[in-house]
This record gives sequence, structure tokens and C-alpha cells, in this order.
Amino acid sequence: MEVLYSSTRSKKNPVKASEAILKGLSEDGGLFVPDRIPTLDKTLEELSEMTYGQVAYEVMKLYLTDFTEQELKECIAKAYDEKFDTEEIAPMVEAEGAYYLELFHGATIAFKDMALSILPHLLTTSAKKNHVKNEIVILTATSGDTGKAALAGFADVEGTRIIVFYPKNGVSKIQEKQMVTQKGKNTYVVGIHGNFDDAQTGVKQIFGDKELAAYMDEKGFQFSSANSINIGRLVPQIVYYVYAYVKLLKEERIAGKEKINVVVPTGNFGNILAAFYAKQMGLPIDRLICASNENKVLFDFFKSGTYDRNREFVLTSSPSMDILISSNLERLIYRIAGNDPDKNKELMAALSSGGSYTITDEMKGQLADFYGNYADEQETAKTIHDLYDRTGYVIDTHTAVAACVYGKYKEETKDTNTTVIASTASPYKFTRSVINAIDCQYDAMEDFELVDKLAEISGVEVPKAIEEIRKAPVLHDHICEKTQMKQMVMDFLGI
Ligand SMILES: *Cc1c(COP(=O)(O)O)cnc(C)c1O
Repeated sequence: MEVLYSSTRSKKNPVKASEAILKGLSEDGGLFVPDRIPTLDKTLEELSEMTYGQVAYEVMKLYLTDFTEQELKECIAKAYDEKFDTEEIAPMVEAEGAYYLELFHGATIAFKDMALSILPHLLTTSAKKNHVKNEIVILTATSGDTGKAALAGFADVEGTRIIVFYPKNGVSKIQEKQMVTQKGKNTYVVGIHGNFDDAQTGVKQIFGDKELAAYMDEKGFQFSSANSINIGRLVPQIVYYVYAYVKLLKEERIAGKEKINVVVPTGNFGNILAAFYAKQMGLPIDRLICASNENKVLFDFFKSGTYDRNREFVLTSSPSMDILISSNLERLIYRIAGNDPDKNKELMAALSSGGSYTITDEMKGQLADFYGNYADEQETAKTIHDLYDRTGYVIDTHTAVAACVYGKYKEETKDTNTTVIASTASPYKFTRSVINAIDCQYDAMEDFELVDKLAEISGVEVPKAIEEIRKAPVLHDHICEKTQMKQMVMDFLGI
């Protein structure tokens, strides 16, 4: 049965999956949502015998219903190949009774690769299916990891150009080096004076600029988005929750239909929303544990029912979660508002004018599956330190936020469900913070000396993604004010 996608802000003109992928964001500023959440049509036992790519097909075919079997299988084959350093694609590591689902074995060593290695293929396939003649311009705001993963995914992909805006002082040194050394004729990287929310707001404004869109069309260009608002990113992220579950089943770590919890270090709410969709599809998930850093807007929201972005933006050691406007939350709000676009629109209008909104008690009652908590900087460091001390396993700062929140959850609830923690980045991406947490005597070292030190401490080989940037020349040095983003885009396109 065909799944169509409509905006969270209007039920008018639903589109096919390929059109939703091409558009990224709906014209009315809303996010595309499927008109129903499909249920898995293979049993968990059947799925447990499949490879990652096969599971990906079984999940994605239910959402991308206007893709042919061949189209979808080709996209999957091109995405989940040797770019990943393990055939398992998403291996799991058990430590202290929890399962760390390592989502960082792709080209840029963060979980963004799970979706961004397939998005370029979904997008170019969608363009072909819809007879798009324009060159597609991917416009992306990044808090560090999306940018590099999108650059790597789209570099030299024919018919596309990619422009990435990142907060100049809001990403780790290694993250910045990864981006500014990106090769590819069609790539463009700009640091902005502002934070991630400024970058994301700027990008959304450019997307919403109808005059610009018409002018671009005249010149043979159209925008699309690689941000986690694109349904082409959300759908591939559902896959690894299904894969993790059936792997636990196959290895007899859980019994058939036994419920598990998942813990997700959260920023833009894309990753945890994918877990929520997996649950709606019939995957036996009990609690969805939403972990925040000191930018704990989501923790406050789950507790009080009020989403309030009016607060100080804190730069933390988990920069990919330094976000006060979690865009994908809108999809959940829409759902708990009874799929009512008008109600959702009202709340989003309040968010954009006054910076906050409050949901009704009835809506709040539907959030019982979620548990929110946060970890401060000290707790995050201590979590890395203690886990290493006790087990020798090294986790990155984002994953540590999740591990710490999981500890709080267990203490509060005494819940003993088997638990999967989404491990979203390699510790090598945040080397300085990770090493300082383990042993602060090395802080005077250069970034790449620290990389070698981490290899020594962790016993994990330095990933290729890090070796590659060690000596790579800087190819992008553009910097702009947040008000100049549109001009930068036009300059790059030469229009
Ligand atoms: C993007 C990112 C997150 C947050 O994921 P969301 O889908 O935005 O909630 C967490 N950890 C890392 C390492 C990331 O790159």
C-alpha cells in the first residue's frame, strides 16, 4: 500500500516519498510525515537471519513505496559498502550490562553516516524519477557531524552541489578540520559567526525564500536539504534499531518479543524519533530514553510539557547536541496532537514568535514512552572515565551523555530491561575531551598527538577518517555573518 507524505502544518497536497525527499522541507515550513506508520511485514525471526543491507531493504521499502525494488536495492548497495570499516555496519559492544550500538563505522566516524551515505543515492534516484532537470543544491546547517557526513556523501555526485554552514566556534577542532579539508568540485564550506541555531534558522529562511527559489529555477538550480528534517534521512535511521533488536534475538540475549529500552543522545531529535517510528512499526521497544547535555530543553519539555528555548545556549564537549530548537520534535508534536496540522501550526507559531509553547495534558499523556534526563559536563567526563577504568572501553562525549542518563534512569526506576545505547560518534572525533576525561595530564599535547595517545590508551586503531585529515590541506576558508548566508549561497552558485 502506498505511503504518502504530508506536511505537519497542512494536510493539503500529500506527495510521494521521492518528492518529499527532493523537497526536504514542505513549502509551508512544515516537515513531511508519512500518512500512516507501516508495520513490519517480516517476522523478527526472519529479520534476524538477514544482513544489514537486507534489513535496510525490508524497512525502507515500507516507507519509500514509489521506489522500485531494484532502485532501492541499488541505493542500499551503494551506501553500505566498504566505506564502512566493518561488514556488520552497526556492531554492538556489551559493557557493564548495556549494549552500545556503534553507529560510527562509516566514512566520517559519526552516526550521521548511517543516513548520509544513502541520502545522495535516494536523492539522485528521486530526481530521475521526477524528471528533474535542475542541478540540486544541498543546503545544510551543521553542529559538526552532519556537515562532514553530507560533504562526504555528496562530493562529486553528478547533478548536485553541496553548501555547508557551521558555527565557526561551535565545533571540535577535528570536526572543523574534517570539513575544511573536504575535496570535490561541488563542495562549499562556510563558518558563520553564530551558533548552530543561527545556522539552522538561516538555512530555513533561505529555503522559505520564494523569490530566491524562482530565480534559482531560472538559473537551473533547486534546493534540497540533507538535514535530519529530510525524510530520506529519517527512514534509514529506523533500520539500525530493527537490526540491533534482531541481532540481540539471534544471539539469544533476549527472548522473542522481549521488550528493550533504547537510550539516545539527542540534539535535533532525529535519531530518537527514528527509534519511536521503529516502535510504532511493531519493534518491541519499551522506553525511549532521551539524553540531553546542558542544553536540556528536551528534559524540561518532557518534565513540564513546556518547550522553552528562551535560555542561554551552552557550548559543551558534546557539540552535536548543542541545540535549543530540536526540529524533528515537530513530527512528534504533530502526532500527539492527533495528526492535527492546525494545532501543530499554532504551537510552532508560538515557538517562532515567543520562543516557547505548552502542550495540553492530553498530549502530555501520550509521551509516557519517553523518559528525559540530562548530564552536565562533569558527569559526562566522569562517565567516560569510570567506564574506561572499569572495562577499558572508551566512548565519546555524546555517547557518554547517554550512558550517564541511562545510569540515572536505572537508579530512578529500577527498570531491568535489556538496553541499547546509541553510540553516535567515535571517541577519535572528540579526542581532547575524551582523553582529558580519562587522564588530564596530556592536555598540552597537539590534537594529532592526542590521537596517537588515544590509540595507545584505547587499543583501538586510529580510523582512516582521522589519518586522512592529519596532513590534508585546508581547502575552504570562507567565514560570514549570519545575515550574509544567502549572499554566500548566490556567490558560490555564481548567480
Ligand atoms: C547529530 C548527533 C547527535 C544528535 O542526533 P539528533 O538526531 O540530532 O538528535 C548525537 N551525537 C552525535 C555524535 C551526533 O553527530
